[in-house]
Amino acid sequence: MTIYCSGTGSLTTEQLEMYSGRIAAYLQGRDVRFAGIVCGKSPLVYAAIRACAMAHVCFIPIDEALPGQRRSVIAENADILLYDGTVFPGQPGWTDLRDVVLHPGTFQPLPEDDIAPAYRIYTSGSTGFPKGTQVSRGNLRSFLTWFSGIPAIAETKPRSVLNQAMFSFDLSVADLWYSLSTGARLTVMERGLFGDFSAMFRRMSESGAELAVFTPSFAELCMCDSGFCRELLPELRVIFFCGETLRPATAEKLFRRFPGVRIINAYGPTETCCAVTAAEITPEMARQPVLPIGDMRRTAGGIHIVDGEIVITGESVARYTGGVIGGFGEHRGERCFHTGDGGEIRDGMLWFRGRLDRQLKIMGYRIEPEDIENNLLKLPGVTQAVVSVSGKNRITAHVTANATTPEELRRGLSELVPEYMLPGRIVIVEQLPVGGSFKLRRDIGE
Ligand code: AMP
Repeated sequence: MTIYCSGTGSLTTEQLEMYSGRIAAYLQGRDVRFAGIVCGKSPLVYAAIRACAMAHVCFIPIDEALPGQRRSVIAENADILLYDGTVFPGQPGWTDLRDVVLHPGTFQPLPEDDIAPAYRIYTSGSTGFPKGTQVSRGNLRSFLTWFSGIPAIAETKPRSVLNQAMFSFDLSVADLWYSLSTGARLTVMERGLFGDFSAMFRRMSESGAELAVFTPSFAELCMCDSGFCRELLPELRVIFFCGETLRPATAEKLFRRFPGVRIINAYGPTETCCAVTAAEITPEMARQPVLPIGDMRRTAGGIHIVDGEIVITGESVARYTGGVIGGFGEHRGERCFHTGDGGEIRDGMLWFRGRLDRQLKIMGYRIEPEDIENNLLKLPGVTQAVVSVSGKNRITAHVTANATTPEELRRGLSELVPEYMLPGRIVIVEQLPVGGSFKLRRDIGE
């Protein structure tokens, strides 16, 4: 049976067993604890992630499209860097998975250990460096138990899943680890497909997916084409959304395009393992102005509203790497994560009330404006930088700088931050406006 389908090949259950067994033996034999995997979505990468789970090795996804410097920060703490040479050219010191799977080895199964790290995902950090969240096997188990119990998932028991997100992005935890833990077939879409609707739709139609895990932005993009409808995905039973606001109009259109589909609006930050709440959206709800993000009867942990902020406790609360504390703390004697999200519990549902800080979501990507500002400040000639965001989610940077041009700054910045963090416009100004307490004003506009 085919268990994994990608643009660079597929895997049968037997192949997955064999490859992951060999990679797990290799990792175990070398006492690897943290494995960076340069993460395309090839079959060998999927086998390597499974191998990490088997050998209790922490999987660190490394997006191949990241600028070199940012990639190095993420790779720094890995004992080994694995890559699939059929997809990327390697670099000296990296280990090609094609070589690893040539040699059978002996793998010693391990007893369950909830404390051992399962994976580490890096998000935009306000200091200008990516921020690592380390999720333990216990955190992940808690998520998977909750996820499988969401009524739409429990009742349909999807056997084939469609993935959209990169494996370095928290949303992918839902499809990737659900498929790894249940043996459901996973069909992935690579970044290259997103610019080519006909190729992307071909992949979707071949997937036979019963469950799709999407960001709302992605579904909105797909709906620009009338071909995104029931005929394309005849088996689709559930769409699981997470990561950003799902608009009622998007849900309503999806109900029309995919009659009978069940829509889940889930919520949670990377720091608490993908999602902690989920609300099933009904066609009636889709006619209301806003949608709930969680049904309080079934949450993955404790959900508390403290001074208007959503605070999460329970088994899915993870930690940052390097002893960083950030929003982690205690709530009534329990470890918790202060999300920075405004929220309200009403009518048994959790409602999102916007961010309490400046963090942004653009096409599902999480961005700290200070991350862009701090990286602009690293460029020669830049003395001050302020990033603002328009109502249409367009990023603009205003900088004071000597002897440089916006084009040069853009080029320099692209070597420091991922493409999705590049401002649409960089404007060089003589002086930036200063407000009370001599603080730079950040409400400059476009
Ligand atoms: P990430 O760590 O990339 O998953 O981003 C987490 C953040 O995305 C949360 O703290 C929220 O600000 C936002 N978010 C996640 N799910 C939703 C949702 N269903 N509706 C609105 N915002 C969401």
